[in-house]
Amino acid sequence: MTPAVIVLLGANSIPVAKKIISVLPGAQLYGLAGRTSDVDVSFTEFGTTLRELFANGTPIIGICATGILIRTLAPLLANKRQEPPVIAVAEDGSAVVPLLGGLNGVNNLARQIASVLDVKPAITTTGDIRFGIALEDPPAGYRLANPEYAKSFMSDLLAGHSVRLEGDAAWLRNSSLPIDQDAERVIQITEKPVVSTSARLVYHPATVAIGVSCTPPPPASRLWRGGVAKPGWGSEEIALVEQMLADAELAPVSVAGVFASTLDAANPALQAIADALNVPIRFFTTDEIAAVMSQNNTADVAMAAALAASSGRLVMQRQLSGFNCAMAIAPLPIDINTTGKPRGRLAIIGTGPGGGDWMSPQVKEILRNATDLVGYSTYLGLVGSLGNGKRWHESDNREELARGQMALDLAAEGRFVAVVSSGDPGIYAMAAAVFEVLEREAKPEWQGIEIQVAPGISAMQAAAAKIGAPLGHDFCAISLSDILKPWSIIEQRITAAAQADFVIAFYNPVSKQRIWQLAETRNILLRYRHPDTTVVLARNLGRDGESVEVYTLEDLAPELADMRTVILVGSSKTRMIQRCDGSVWVYTPRRYDEGKTP
Ligand code: SAH
Repeated sequence: MTPAVIVLLGANSIPVAKKIISVLPGAQLYGLAGRTSDVDVSFTEFGTTLRELFANGTPIIGICATGILIRTLAPLLANKRQEPPVIAVAEDGSAVVPLLGGLNGVNNLARQIASVLDVKPAITTTGDIRFGIALEDPPAGYRLANPEYAKSFMSDLLAGHSVRLEGDAAWLRNSSLPIDQDAERVIQITEKPVVSTSARLVYHPATVAIGVSCTPPPPASRLWRGGVAKPGWGSEEIALVEQMLADAELAPVSVAGVFASTLDAANPALQAIADALNVPIRFFTTDEIAAVMSQNNTADVAMAAALAASSGRLVMQRQLSGFNCAMAIAPLPIDINTTGKPRGRLAIIGTGPGGGDWMSPQVKEILRNATDLVGYSTYLGLVGSLGNGKRWHESDNREELARGQMALDLAAEGRFVAVVSSGDPGIYAMAAAVFEVLEREAKPEWQGIEIQVAPGISAMQAAAAKIGAPLGHDFCAISLSDILKPWSIIEQRITAAAQADFVIAFYNPVSKQRIWQLAETRNILLRYRHPDTTVVLARNLGRDGESVEVYTLEDLAPELADMRTVILVGSSKTRMIQRCDGSVWVYTPRRYDEGKTP
C-alpha cells in the first residue's frame, strides 16, 4: 500500500504524529506552513493538498476534527472501492476515528494507530463488530472474486441467514459468522475460476506458485539498458503461463507470485510475466534451489523454485526454448513477505544540497520505499523523517569504496538500499564509487541487483540559482581535493580552464588539512584572469548558516571558505548587477560577441 500521510495543522500535534509514525514506517508528515516545522512537506492550501492526496489513493491520517476532513473530501466521494483509508485523530491522541476506506483496510489501520496511542478505535462497521471480520476486505492472501455481492451478502447474514463454507480458510472458520453446513448461502474458498452469484461469495487464496527459469538470458540486442527488455518482449512466455493456468483450471488471481533463482534475477522475462499477472517476484539463492532439487530428485530450476515457494504439490510443467515454467499449489496462501527475497535494488541518490525543498520527488519516493540507507552520517541527517524506520548504515566520509561494497552486498540479500549523497550523486560523490566497486569486484551475486541513479541538485547549481545565473555560458567543475588525484593534475586543469575562459565551479576548496591549494589556485587564475573577476562563495546552501557572498578574484583567500563552500569563479564575461536595495545578481551572458554588452 502507498505509505500514509499524516496531516498536521499545528505544532501541538507533533508528539501524536511521532507516535503514529513509529508504527507506520515510511509515513510522511505534511504540515501547514507557518504553523509547523520539521515536516517532510510544508503546504499552504489545505483543501487542495488533501484532495490531491485522496485522489492519488494515499492513506490520510488527519490530526484534526472529523468535520474538516469530511467537508474537504465530500466532493470527491464517488467510488468506495477506490477510496484510500482516511482517519481523524484527536490532537491529544484520545480518539481515532476511521472515516473512509472501509474496503481498503481503514479499520485495521485505525486499530494499529489506536494501539500505539493506547485508546480504543471508534470502529462503527457492523459486520466488523458482529462477526469480527469484513467480508469486503479479506486479509492478505485472499481475494474476493465478486466484491459487488459482498455488501448484500453481509446484510443477509446480519439479518439472520446462515452460511456454509466450501473449502477452508482459518479467518472465516474462526470468525463469528453464523456457519451451518446446511445453509443455502455459500462462501467458497478455491483456486479454481468459479461463477459467483449473490448467494455464493468466492475467495481465491494466493496459493499458486509459478516457478520459472530462463536460460540463456535474452541476447543483448533485445535489451535496452541494464537488463530492461524492449516493450513487447516476453509475450510468448506470458502466453505460455496464461495457457498453463487455463489448462490447470486455476484462477489467475490465485497466483501468489513468480519465483526463480537469484541467478535469473536480471532476466526481463520474469518481470514481464509478473507484470502481466500483477504479482510480485521472489528469488531463492542457489543453495536454497539446490536443497529443493536434491529433496525432489530433479535438476529443473523452475520446478525447484515453485516447490520452494509452495511446499506443496506440482501441478504442471512446460517449456519454450530457453524458458521453463512449473506451477505448484501450496496448502495455505503463500506469504510473499516471508517467501524468498525480492530482487535487490540499489538506488544511488542525491538529496540536493540542503533540505527537502531541493530534493526531487523521485528521490523522496526512493527514500520512502528503501529498507536500508547507506552514507556518511551528515548526509543521512539531511533526509529528515524520510529516514524513519529504515536500517541506517553510517560510515566515515573517506570510506567510499567500502561503503559501495557494503551497499551492493546488502542489495544482493534482497534489500532495497539507498546510497545517500548530498547534491548530485554523480558529482564528486557515491555513484562513481559504486560503479568502481561493481566493475572491480564483479561478484556473481551482484549480477541480479537492479541499479538506479537518481539525480539531485548539485552545489554549483544551487549556488548559481541563489546569486543569479553565473553558469549561463560554458563552465566546468574542478575539485581541489588532492586525495584521489595528484596536485599536478589539478594545477594543469585549473590552468587549462582559466586559459579557455570557462566559468569554474570549485568543489572541496579547503579542508582542515588542505589550505594552501586554494591560495595556489587563486595565483594560477590570476595569470589568466583579471583581478576584478567576480567570485561567488556559497556556503551551507539550503542548510542552517547559509551564506552567499561575492568577492573579486584578487580577494579570494582560503579563510573565506570551508569544506561546505562551493566557489564559482566567473569568466571574463561574467557580470554583476547592483540593485537599489543593496543586493547583487551575478550572471554570465549567453553570447560571446567581443566588446558588446547585452
Ligand atoms: N555531490 C555533491 C558534492 C560533494 S563534494 C554535489 O553535487 O553538490 C563536497 C563539496 O561540495 C563541498 O566541499 C562543497 O564544495 C560542495 N558542497 C556540498 N554541499 C554544499 C552546500 N550545501 N553548500 C555549499 N557547498 C556545498
